[in-house]
Amino acid sequence: MAKDPRFNILFTPLKIGSKTIRNRFYQVPHCNGAGTNSPGMNMAHRGIKAEGGWGAVNTEQCSIHPECDDTLRITARIWDKGDMRNLKAMVDHVHSHGSLAGCELFYGGPHAPGLETRTISRGPSQYNSDFATVPGCPGFTYNHEADKDELNRLQQQYVDAALRARDTGFDLVNVYGAHAYGPMQWLNPYYNKRTDEYGGSFANRARFWIETLEKIRKAVKDDIALVTRCAVDTLYGGKGVEIGEDGLKFIELASPYLDLWDVNIGDITEWGEDAGPSRFYQIGHENDWIRHIKQATTKPVVGVGRYYDPEKMLQVVSSGIIDIIGAARPSIADPWLPRKIEEGRIDDIRTCIGCNVCISRWEMGGVPFICTQNATAGEEYRRGWHPEKFEPAKSTKDVLIVGAGPAGSECARVLMERGYVVHLVDARDKIGGYVNDVATLPGLGEWSFHRDYRQTQLEKLIKKNKQCQIALGQKRMTADEILDYGASRVIIATGSKWSTNGVNHRTHEPIPGADASLPHVLTPDQVFEGKKVGKRVMIINYDPYYMAPSLAERFARAGHDVTVATVCGLGAYMDYTLEGANMQRLIHELGIKVMGETACSKVEPGRVQLHNIWGDGYKREFKGTGQLPRRENTSHEWHECDTVILITSRRSEDSLYRELKARKAEWEKNGISDVFVIGDAEAPRIIADATFDGHRLGREIEDADPQHQKPFKREQRAWGTAYNPDENPELEWRL
Ligand code: SF4
Repeated sequence: MAKDPRFNILFTPLKIGSKTIRNRFYQVPHCNGAGTNSPGMNMAHRGIKAEGGWGAVNTEQCSIHPECDDTLRITARIWDKGDMRNLKAMVDHVHSHGSLAGCELFYGGPHAPGLETRTISRGPSQYNSDFATVPGCPGFTYNHEADKDELNRLQQQYVDAALRARDTGFDLVNVYGAHAYGPMQWLNPYYNKRTDEYGGSFANRARFWIETLEKIRKAVKDDIALVTRCAVDTLYGGKGVEIGEDGLKFIELASPYLDLWDVNIGDITEWGEDAGPSRFYQIGHENDWIRHIKQATTKPVVGVGRYYDPEKMLQVVSSGIIDIIGAARPSIADPWLPRKIEEGRIDDIRTCIGCNVCISRWEMGGVPFICTQNATAGEEYRRGWHPEKFEPAKSTKDVLIVGAGPAGSECARVLMERGYVVHLVDARDKIGGYVNDVATLPGLGEWSFHRDYRQTQLEKLIKKNKQCQIALGQKRMTADEILDYGASRVIIATGSKWSTNGVNHRTHEPIPGADASLPHVLTPDQVFEGKKVGKRVMIINYDPYYMAPSLAERFARAGHDVTVATVCGLGAYMDYTLEGANMQRLIHELGIKVMGETACSKVEPGRVQLHNIWGDGYKREFKGTGQLPRRENTSHEWHECDTVILITSRRSEDSLYRELKARKAEWEKNGISDVFVIGDAEAPRIIADATFDGHRLGREIEDADPQHQKPFKREQRAWGTAYNPDENPELEWRL
C-alpha cells in the first residue's frame, strides 16, 4: 500500500547543521544492554532501526572517560581506539541504510559509581547520589568537587571524546545534559552550590555547559552536527531547573552553539517521569513542557513522549511543537515503525505497551534488554533474528497449538509467517490468554496492545493461508482429543494459575487454612472471574511485581478497606520498571495499609494470622534434630478481615503436556512427531519472556532439539582465540 499523503511532513528531510536527516524519525539515545562490550548486538539492533526507516539512530549513553564508569549497568564507552572500533560497527551499519549515526557523550558525576575503574567523578559541588547507583542503595556514591583545573580537565575530556566520535564516523555528537547527568549538574541549583563564577546566578550555573559546547564546536568545527540533550524542567519546582525560568533561558543562551535540541523533562532518580510507564503516562505526556521550546530557539527540536501513534506524531510536528519525533521505546517495540507508515501499513505497527520491561533490565544491571512486544529485540545479532523477516517453512508438518496466550499466539504468528499450517485453539473467546485479565487492572489498559497486535496479524495470516485456523471459546481439549486431532506437531501453551492454597517461596508449603475453594479466600484468577469480595480485604503477598499493588488499587478505588501483608517490598520489581515511585504515592493516597516484611502463618474465616519474617531470632544454635536452630518466631498476631486474596506463587498448567508425554508410545500411530511445551505452561514468567519463548520455538521448530534453545553467538573473550564470534564460530553455547 502507498503512504497516506497526510504523513508527507514526517518524511520531509531536515538540515541539522552540516548534516541532513532524511525524515523526522530520530531514535533518541537509549540503553540496550550492549554498550561497547557487545558490538555485534549494538550494531545489529541499531542497524535494523536504520533499515526500518529511523532517520537518525543514536548510541546509548556513551561514557567519555574512565572517571565515568556506570558498571554494573551496561553503557557504551568511547575511551580509546578499541571502543571506537566497536562503535564503528554500529556507525557503518546505520550509514549503510542512509541514516545518521549519533553518539551521546555521557559523564555521570556521582551517579556513576566507578565500580570497575575505581575512579571518582567530578562535579560542581560534592554530594552523594540521590539515584540508586547500586540498585536499592541511593546515597551510596559521592563525587569530588572540581576546582578550576579539574573543571577545565573535564571539559577537555568532552572535547577529546567528541573528536573520537567524529573520527569513528558519527554524524551527530550529543552532549548529554538530561537525566541529571553531566552539564545539567552545573546548571541545576539542586546539585550546584558553588560560590565562584560557576555557581549562584543563572549565567554562572550555565557557564560550564556553554563553555563545553564552545570548546567542542571549536574542535570539531562543522564536521559533525552538535546536539545537546536537555531536561528543560527537572520537576523539583523552584529548587531545580524550571521551564519558565532557567529552562527556556538556557535554550536561548545555548542555541547559537548547537545544531539540534533534544529535549525532555525530569531527572535520573525518577526518570519514569520521562520514560513514563503507560500505567501513569500516556502518549505525548511531555507536551505541556516541550511545547514552549520553539519560543526560545530557531534550531530544530526533537521531543519524546512515547510516540507510537502516527496520528499523534503528525499532530505534534504539523502544529510546530517539535520538528522531529524522538523515540526510544516505540523504536524498540517496532524498529520498522517509520517504514510501516511510509508503506501505508499502519495496522502492522507493533505498538509499545509502555510496560518498561526493557528499562527494567538496564535498571537491574548487567544484562541485555528485552521487549514485551518485540521478541527479537536484542536477539538480532546473537540469534540472527530480524523482526520482519522469517525463514520459510522447512517441512509440511502442520501444527496444533493449545492455548492462545502470549506464548501460543506469538508462536502461531511466527509459524504462520513462515508458511506452516497452524491451528490455534483456546477456551477463551479472545486470543491473549491472561493478558486479557491483566489489561483490566487499573492503568494497564494499554497492555492489551500486546493481544491486539497478534490478533490483527493472525487474522491477516489466516486470510493468506486458508488452511490455518483459530478456534476460540472451545471446550478445553483432552489428551485423547489432541491425539485424535491429526496434527503432526502439538504445542502446549496452557499458561499457569495462581496457587489456591498459599504455596510460596519461603516455605514451599501451603499456608494452613488457605483454600480458595472456600468463599472467603480468593486467588487473582478468581478475582478476574468475578468471585465475591467482602468489605475488609487482606492481600497476602509473596510476589514482587504488579499483581498485589494493582489489586490493592482496584479494591481501594471500589471502596473496600484494603491491607496488604507483604513479604517483599510491595511491587518491588516496579522500581526497575520506573513505576515504583508513583505506585507508592498512589498506595499512600488511596489509604491502603501496607504491612512490610510480613508473612502469613494461618488463614481462618474472618481472620488471618501474620508474623514478621525476621521474628525468629538472629542467633543460631544447635538444638539437635527436628528443631529450628533459632528461637521460634514470636511475632504472630491475628488480624480481622472478610476476604483473603492469596498472591503467593504461580503453578504451570501442564497436566495436558505431562499426560501427552506419558503417552508417547501412542504418538506415532496418531501421526504426531513432536509435543512441545512453551511459556508459562513450562514455567511461569513475565509476558515478555513467555512471548520470547513462543517466538523462539516458531523460529527453531526444525532444529534437532526444538524444545531446547539453539546455540547463539556469544560476544565474549576467549583466551588465545579471535574475539569476534563471526571469526570464531566455535564460540557457541548450548543450554
Ligand atoms: Fe515498550 Fe514494554 Fe517493549 Fe519497553 S518492553 S519497548 S515499554 S513494549
